[in-house]
Amino acid sequence: MYYIGAHVSASGGVENAPLNAKEIGATGFALFTKNQRQWVSAPLSGESIESFKRNCIENGYSADAILPHDSYLINLGAPESDKLEQSRMAFIDEMTRCQQLGLNRLNFHPGSHLKLISEDECLRRIAESINIALDRTSGVTAVIENTAGQGSNLGFRFEQIAQIIAQVEDKGRVGVCIDTCHAFEAGYDLKNNFAQVFDEFERIIGFKYLKGIHLNDAKKPCGSKVDRHESLGKGEIGWECFRSIASDKRFENIPLILETPDPELWPEEIASLIKLTAC
Ligand SMILES: [Zn+2]
Ligand SMILES: [Zn+2]
Repeated sequence: MYYIGAHVSASGGVENAPLNAKEIGATGFALFTKNQRQWVSAPLSGESIESFKRNCIENGYSADAILPHDSYLINLGAPESDKLEQSRMAFIDEMTRCQQLGLNRLNFHPGSHLKLISEDECLRRIAESINIALDRTSGVTAVIENTAGQGSNLGFRFEQIAQIIAQVEDKGRVGVCIDTCHAFEAGYDLKNNFAQVFDEFERIIGFKYLKGIHLNDAKKPCGSKVDRHESLGKGEIGWECFRSIASDKRFENIPLILETPDPELWPEEIASLIKLTAC
């Protein structure tokens, strides 16, 4: 089963996300479980949790089809100790929310060194942050997203992600989400070398860790390190990459999520991808 959808709105309550996903013909979806631009949000109410679960069941979304995303404010590799502590607390809260909603994974951007600490030290802090969060929660996998390498964001090389995973104690609850736009901007040429890029992924990280894909075309050329998403087929990557993903068994049974800039196109993008999975 291919789970294909988009990062849908949860405005008005998390329980609205599965309804919004259904409306665009999605078989999976992503959401924020709290306001992604604030450090603190009210806890999820019991009522909200129950109706989220009910709406997922009634619309055919299992936990494996859903990829929650954490807040953009969190930096699990932060150089300053107060920021690191604040990030770790917020991340534990995000993991707890997923656990309460019966979800099994949380997608996050690894972290940034802000040119104040070394890459190795930043990656070590990220792994330590994951270990702390896994200790305080259960049933939720921490899913590291690759980045475009913009600014001082780490996780733009498969080796950096492997270095984090190597320092995580519970390997059964750490995973990876590959964002096609980020990979391309980081220098992985998914337009011309699709097979080689995923061979390299298998060799350096391993498909057993793959817990999600973000399906985005890219506005900027390969290797630009600038993170600008584009609608599928309208950017530098082109449809062939997405056709390859939708017809490759290695991408089955994980959420395949659009974060493309024009929500008006989502129903069409999703329908085209679902059609390809049948080929
Ligand atoms: Zn992404
Ligand atoms: Zn991005």
